[in-house]
Amino acid sequence: MKALDELLHSLRLRIFFVVLIVGIIPALCLKYGVLHFYEEEAISNRSIEIQAQCNSISNQLINYNYMYDTSSEKVNAELAQLSNIYDGRIIIVDSALRIVKDTYSLDEGKTIVSSEVIKCFKGENTVHYDKNERYIELTVPVINSMANNGQSIVGVMLVSVSIDSIKTTLENLTTKLDLIVLVIVIIVMLVAVMFSKSIVNPFLKMTDSIAEWGEEVEVEAVSKTMTEFTETHLIAESFASLLSKMKSVDKARQEFVSNVSHELKTPLTSMKVLADSLMAMGDAPAELYKEFMTDMSEEIDRENKIINDLLSLVKMDKTEAKPDIESKSVNDLIEVIMKRLRPIAKKRNIELVFESFREVTAEIDEVKFTLAISNLVENAIKYNIENGWVHVSLNADHKDMYITVADSGIGIPEEAINDIFERFYRVDKSHSREIGGTGLGLAITKNAILMHHGTVKVSSKVGEGTKFTVRIPLSYIE
Ligand code: ADP
Repeated sequence: MKALDELLHSLRLRIFFVVLIVGIIPALCLKYGVLHFYEEEAISNRSIEIQAQCNSISNQLINYNYMYDTSSEKVNAELAQLSNIYDGRIIIVDSALRIVKDTYSLDEGKTIVSSEVIKCFKGENTVHYDKNERYIELTVPVINSMANNGQSIVGVMLVSVSIDSIKTTLENLTTKLDLIVLVIVIIVMLVAVMFSKSIVNPFLKMTDSIAEWGEEVEVEAVSKTMTEFTETHLIAESFASLLSKMKSVDKARQEFVSNVSHELKTPLTSMKVLADSLMAMGDAPAELYKEFMTDMSEEIDRENKIINDLLSLVKMDKTEAKPDIESKSVNDLIEVIMKRLRPIAKKRNIELVFESFREVTAEIDEVKFTLAISNLVENAIKYNIENGWVHVSLNADHKDMYITVADSGIGIPEEAINDIFERFYRVDKSHSREIGGTGLGLAITKNAILMHHGTVKVSSKVGEGTKFTVRIPLSYIE
């Protein structure tokens, strides 16, 4: 039942029938049109032909005074010939409606009461075509133009002829036309099959791709076939690209979740180890307790930092998250960042310099902007050498502001440059962890800059240092 319902509602079947009907109806119309036109033409020509012959005979009827004397051999011969040629019967009626001649010699001397004959006497010629009995019946007046009182109808010729020959031709024509229609139907059916297939195929491909979505199948690159339509091909193509995007998003999501769990578990595992070993020791000295507790406290801080970083990221990831845009002095914001980070730099005797080329005011989200730039400056300090330097500069043109953060630090290997903005990516895991990195800082920075419709670029040389260049438009574009 369901299969039948599906079949009846199938797009392909409907397109097939539409094309079929659209193709067949004109073919059938053509067939009946041709037949009808031929029949009309043939009957009309035949009637005109007979009328012309009758007219000429009718003149002779007058000349030979046939209405009163039917002995004229010439006229009789002509009448016999006419009725032979057309396989018909000719009846001649006089003004008293008496049959003076019947080529079948059946009704001579009888009186005829027929509306056609009476109409003809009144001057109205009739042609009657009987389709079923296959004959034409027509009346032709016998006119005496020499009569005393002008023209007068002295008799009527009633002619009925068989149209078998026309019918035979029509039948032959019908057979031929039927053959042509059959050929057209076959061609149209083939076209309908191909047409419906080429429209529906891309959709079937898409359905297959969706069905395979759960499985680990590569989304097939869509190649255009000869019979496919541009529009359906475009849909299929964008669908395939959507599907592969969804796959990569799904993959990224899974990776992210496993990274998050891993990162969150690490401090917990350390704490568990510290606590367990303290418990196992029984009465450990107070100093050891203090030392282990300090370590545990550090792990808690780290867990806290990871969670905070994750929250910042998630907040920015939300599509509906709108930045809280205000016009702010960028110089002031950077001064605040520098002030906050200076103590950390001082610990390793790193020189922290801010160079501003001009006063810059821009439409920005203060919190996110500060987070982005702090992460860069913090990294520049974290991945630096003892007694190194960090230079921060600010400049602007009429459209954008440019912030650079350069350091004299350890640098980033070339092969890692493209990955450093990925979540949880760290060039040297143990070193980064040692100095308190979560691997989320640059991901947060990048998201925050993208939110401001800006860009961030990085250039670096291992052992020499790294330089980040940030460009952000001065006016925020919705
Ligand atoms: P983390 O929390 O580990 O610092 P980030 O996302 O901020 O994570 O940075 C990712 C990685 O990029 C870091 O682990 C580090 O290896 C590298 N990196 C970032 N900034 C610098 C820099 N200024 N100099 C050298 N390496 C850097």
